[in-house]
Amino acid sequence: MVICILILIRWCLITLNGVANKMQVIRHNEDVLRTALISKDRKLAKLFEQGTLGEKRLLSEAFRLNSDLFKPVIIHSDSDWIPSHSEPTQDFQQFYEDPCRCTPSSKRSIIYVQPIGSFGDSKVSTEDYIGWLKDYCESFYYGLRVRILEPVPVKDTECVFRVNACTQNLQIHAGRLLSYLKKKKPSDAFCIVGITMIDLYPRESWNFVFGLASLTEGVGVFSFARYDSHFYSENYRGKLDKGKSVIRGNYSVFNGYYTPPITGMILQRSCKTLTHEIGHIFGLHHCRWLQCVMQGSNHLEESDRRPLDLCPICLRKLQSAVGFNIAERYKALLHWIDEGNIETNQEICDGAVRCSQKPVEEFQEHRSWLLKCLALLQT
Ligand SMILES: [Zn+2]
Ligand SMILES: [Zn+2]
Repeated sequence: MVICILILIRWCLITLNGVANKMQVIRHNEDVLRTALISKDRKLAKLFEQGTLGEKRLLSEAFRLNSDLFKPVIIHSDSDWIPSHSEPTQDFQQFYEDPCRCTPSSKRSIIYVQPIGSFGDSKVSTEDYIGWLKDYCESFYYGLRVRILEPVPVKDTECVFRVNACTQNLQIHAGRLLSYLKKKKPSDAFCIVGITMIDLYPRESWNFVFGLASLTEGVGVFSFARYDSHFYSENYRGKLDKGKSVIRGNYSVFNGYYTPPITGMILQRSCKTLTHEIGHIFGLHHCRWLQCVMQGSNHLEESDRRPLDLCPICLRKLQSAVGFNIAERYKALLHWIDEGNIETNQEICDGAVRCSQKPVEEFQEHRSWLLKCLALLQT
């Protein structure tokens, strides 16, 4: 008898804020997850066997029923990513054998990040925030260097911009930013990603876009503007006066333009987005196997539900592309959080250029998770 139910879907009803929602748990069976991780290809299975005992133990959590570390994907509503996108899954073998994916080489190994426009409400917070993002990416893509390019004002990009008719905030044309970044991409870059606190739009008829990327050219641009919890409020400070039009090519409108202050929530959301999007540039597709930072997300609430790190299947993909030791990578991520847990000594900082405290309160659950993974790797 052939058992053809590879994906076992269980339905249940939950009540969220008084509204009944259908919650769907996507639970792949053990064999499916084992094959997605290890593969039936002899060479790839042998490669898996060559990993350390600890790494094999951790990665195998992918197919351990009721794993405390890696959980099945839960769909909360029809507006989530999976019900609205019929993308195919990508297992380790498909990733490994994909001839189109980009892999860092000794000559092209650096991830460049180009800040565009101002960040936060002061120069100090801009420098700190960008430094925190850089260090986070360097831990996440452990073994690769991340370099921050000198922040550029919007006018340097010569891109087109507009005022959004619904939300009344300034928006930059994402495609033009990609062209600007393509020209700026250094010869030793694995990729270059632009980040901005100003909202983006891809074309006139679209309301907005969180980001845009050209994967074959290793270029992407992402906005964190809508990660501010006040973005949709009536009195959002980034709204321009109703009826105010902007003059094409006159970038003075960006001088002193409001960008939200950096909070723990914005830091966590931007770390998640940046690593997810750079993951695509490595050739990782959206993950449908387990809860994972590479899951697609249709809206902010769904994005917030995603964990900060990769499931074992995506972790093996990234490890094969970058070549890191998994324990060393987790230790680096833990160190990044713990740097923020140490109280900043105000007396030492007074008068110094950088003295703001990294807001890591949103990373504490992730810290506990990293400790559990490390314990499993090292037993
Ligand atoms: Zn994505
Ligand atoms: Zn995954």
